[in-house]
Amino acid sequence: MTTAILGGGLSGLTLARLLHERGEEVLVLEAEPRVGGLCRSRTENGFTFDTGGSHIIFSKDTEVLSFMRRMIAANEQRNNRNTKIFYKSSYVKYPFENGLYELPYEDRFFCINGFIQTLIAVERGTVPLPVNFREWIYYTFGPGIAECYMVPYNEKIWKYPTERMSLHWVDGRIPRPPVEDIIKSAIGIETEGYTHQAVFSYPLDGGIEALVTAIAEPVLPFIRTGFRVTSLKKEGHHWQIGNGSETITADRVISTIPVQHLLPCLDKVPEKVLKACHALVYNSLICINIGIRAPLPPISWMYIPEKTLGKTNRLSFPSNFSRHTAPEGCSAILAEITCQPGDEVSRIPDKALVDEVLQMLKTMKICTPDQVVFSSVERQPFAYVVYDLGYQENIASIKDFCRLQDIPLVGRFAQFEYLNMDGCIRSVMDFVASYPRE
Ligand SMILES: Cc1cc2nc3c(=O)[nH]c(=O)nc-3n(C[C@H](O)[C@H](O)[C@H](O)COP(=O)(O)OP(=O)(O)OC[C@H]3O[C@@H](n4cnc5c(N)ncnc54)[C@H](O)[C@@H]3O)c2cc1C
Repeated sequence: MTTAILGGGLSGLTLARLLHERGEEVLVLEAEPRVGGLCRSRTENGFTFDTGGSHIIFSKDTEVLSFMRRMIAANEQRNNRNTKIFYKSSYVKYPFENGLYELPYEDRFFCINGFIQTLIAVERGTVPLPVNFREWIYYTFGPGIAECYMVPYNEKIWKYPTERMSLHWVDGRIPRPPVEDIIKSAIGIETEGYTHQAVFSYPLDGGIEALVTAIAEPVLPFIRTGFRVTSLKKEGHHWQIGNGSETITADRVISTIPVQHLLPCLDKVPEKVLKACHALVYNSLICINIGIRAPLPPISWMYIPEKTLGKTNRLSFPSNFSRHTAPEGCSAILAEITCQPGDEVSRIPDKALVDEVLQMLKTMKICTPDQVVFSSVERQPFAYVVYDLGYQENIASIKDFCRLQDIPLVGRFAQFEYLNMDGCIRSVMDFVASYPRE
C-alpha cells in the first residue's frame, strides 16, 4: 500500500519521514527539480541565502523545537535575537512596544498616552469590541503604537487594507506585551518581548535548507522531483496521479501543495468551492540578496514600516545567523518585498529592485554601492496567507470538499493557514498520530 504525498516542501518531507518511520510505503511527488519548497537555500559566490525569505528556527512547541534541533544536530548555531525596527532614521528595539524609550519624545508620549487611554476605555467598556484587524490594533495598542508602527508595517507586508483583514489569527502571532512592560519600556527599563524567539537557531552550513535535507535523508529514495501533479482521480480503491505525460497509482493521497494547485487537478469541483478558492488572498515574495565586502551592525533582522524608504518590509542579515553564509571579510543582506500575484510590484524587473534596495541601504547607512560584491533576486509565488474577512467561510468550504474526496490537507498552503515551520511540523505530527495505519 503506497501513500502518495503531493509536494516536497517541509510538510511533505516531514510527513514522508514520519510515515516511513512507522513502516509505511510513501512516495513524495514534487514539481520542482529540488525539494524544500519555501525552505530552500542557494549558495553562489560563497554567499548562502534562503530563497523563500530569511528563516530562523524557533518555537514555543518544545516537542517540535527539539525535533528541528535534533535534525540539524551538530550543524546548529544558536543566536541571541537582536531585532530592530527602523523608525525615523533610528534603530528601535523589537517588538516596538519594548523599544518605546528609543522613540523621539513626542512619539513616545503619543504611544504611551494612547496605550493608557485605550486601556482605560477598554476597562470601562466604552470602546466597542474590534471586528477587523485594524480595529484590533487600535483596541490592543492604542492610536500611537497603531499609527507609528503597527498599521504602516502591517499594510506594507500584507499589501491589503487592515480594515479588510480578519482578526481570528492574531493571538500568539502578534506579541501582546503586559502593561508593566509598556511602562518599563517607555521609561527606559529594558524588557524582552516575544521571548520564545529571543534565542533562535540556524544551520551553520547550508542555510535553512539544511533542516529539510536532514529531515528528508531517510526518505530520499522515495522522492520523485520534477513531477508536477496536474490530475488526480480516484478509480475504485486507487488514486491515479498524473503530470500530463505519466500516471502513478497510489492507495492513499495526502496533499501539501497549495489548494490553488490541488483543485484544478480534480474533476467536478462544485462552482461554490472553485469560487471560494479563487477568493482566497495570498502574497508572493521577492527576495533581493546582497553580498557586501564590509561588516554589518550586529542586528539579526529589521522591520521597515516607512514607505519612503521603498518597498522592502524586512531586512535580514544572514551572516549574523551563521558566519558561514558569507566569504571571509564579507556579509550577507536579504531584503524582502511582498506583492500580490500579477500586481505592479511583481512586474518590476530584477535590476530596478536591486537598485532600489541599494539606495535604501545607503540611506540607512548600512552599506554603499561600491561595497557590493554580489546580488541576486529570488521570487516565490506563494509566500504569505492573507486573512481577509471572507477567509474563514471560503477555507471551510474548500476543506469540507477535500474531506469528502478523502484528500487530507497538511501544510501552509494546503491548509491555507499562516503556519511557520513549527506549525507545519505540529500539523504533520498531529496528522500522523490520527492517520490510520495501512
Ligand atoms: C518570508 C518568509 C519567512 C519565513 N520565515 C520563517 C521563519 O523564520 N521560521 C519559521 O518557522 N517559518 C518561517 N516561514 C514559514 C515556512 O517557510 C513555512 O511554514 C514552510 O516552509 C511551509 O512548508 P510547506 O511544505 O507547507 O509548503 P511549501 O514550502 O510551499 O511546499 C509546497 C511544495 O509543493 C510543491 N508543489 C506545488 N504545486 C505542486 C504540484 N502541482 N505538484 C507537485 N508539487 C507541487 C512546491 O514546489 C513546494 O515544494 C517563513 C515563510 C516566509 C514566506
